[in-house]
Amino acid sequence: MPYQFDPNSHRYRDTETGRYVRQVDVLGFVDEEVSRLEVRLKGHARLLVQGKIDIAEFQTRMALTLKESHLRVGAIGAGGTKQLTSAHYGKIGAQLKKQYKYLHGFGQDLAEGKLTKEQAIRRAASYAKSAKTSFFESEFTSRGKVGFYAKRLLDAQSRHCQSCISYQRLQWTLIQLVTPPGVDCECGGRCRCRLVFRSL
Ligand SMILES: [Zn+2]
Ligand SMILES: [Zn+2]
Repeated sequence: MPYQFDPNSHRYRDTETGRYVRQVDVLGFVDEEVSRLEVRLKGHARLLVQGKIDIAEFQTRMALTLKESHLRVGAIGAGGTKQLTSAHYGKIGAQLKKQYKYLHGFGQDLAEGKLTKEQAIRRAASYAKSAKTSFFESEFTSRGKVGFYAKRLLDAQSRHCQSCISYQRLQWTLIQLVTPPGVDCECGGRCRCRLVFRSL
């Protein structure tokens, strides 16, 4: 990213112009990483259904690829790798643990022959969106330390799961009391809930 992180405003600045980078543009980098992750995960599933790797190897590769992406995306949320603290790693780790649990179930379904090749590839790809949650977890961890209020708003264009509706915050709320998109949510943050921030 050609951006420099400003820890006080918790925003990125363009290294050339010094201007603040819009949140949507930062999220663009996250979405690109999620797309790349999806391609990699599908690649693992293809090797599996072609019989080139076994289920255990598939799970290992899935877990490793997910970990790398969650950390990369988490670093973007924190303001760079150097900004990652043990609190960030704890949050990202918790998200990963959830994915590993799903991977375990995935492996069982594969072993029992419950999935067609196409279903296996599609299911592998569905793990990619989880990385976005680590971005928000990281961002919230950093902003919580500095002190921020947030609103969490529903995107009018999207359909929302029940959790998202209950996480909506129309009033300025201490960030520690706001749930980051994708966390404990059926839609996994796919609905594009919007956040606005204000410093204390
Ligand atoms: Zn949701
Ligand atoms: Zn939502």
